[in-house]
Amino acid sequence: MEILKRILKKYDLSIQIRACYQCGVCVSGCPVGRFRWDFNPRRFIEMIARDRLEDLVLQQDIWLCSHCLNCLEHCPQKIEVSEVLIHVKNAAARLGNTPDKYVKMAAQIMTQGWSVEPVQRILKYRQRLGLPEAAPGIDPKELQTLGRCLNWPAKMAAFKSEKAKAPAAGSADHPKETE
Ligand code: SF4
Ligand code: SF4
Repeated sequence: MEILKRILKKYDLSIQIRACYQCGVCVSGCPVGRFRWDFNPRRFIEMIARDRLEDLVLQQDIWLCSHCLNCLEHCPQKIEVSEVLIHVKNAAARLGNTPDKYVKMAAQIMTQGWSVEPVQRILKYRQRLGLPEAAPGIDPKELQTLGRCLNWPAKMAAFKSEKAKAPAAGSADHPKETE
């Protein structure tokens, strides 16, 4: 967790976190919280302030943040919760704690250029609108070049190996936050 601490410090986010007085305004303005009562950005900030980073990166909820910045707009202390959560997610990913659906999504971007595979309904809709069956795909050669430049294959291999070692969500080694 040292790297996460360093990053939060580097971007002055640790100072911001210390300024949080737990008012909960970020929760009331959060669109994800409207659909998931247990999603709580205030609690994430509290966990960092209490140095509970190891627990935080194991939380599955961190992945629900859509980075809409609503919390920043409403926060009286202007704390960049979304920015903080990006770094927390990166730290979780380095430890292999990424939900499978995002791993699949990343693999799809790397191999097909799509983040989400087009479903039958969308393909039919495109047909009705007179559009080609699939949107113009990314040239596979361009994708390969991009992948090589960004070192995707090695990154994906390292990532998958960390993920294989990580405790499964819900296991005894992967506690769920209950506060
Ligand atoms: S709105 Fe800001 S000060 Fe209030 S709990 Fe959320 S992050 Fe902390
Ligand atoms: S950035 Fe994340 S935590 Fe903040 S309001 Fe949007 S979804 Fe909620």
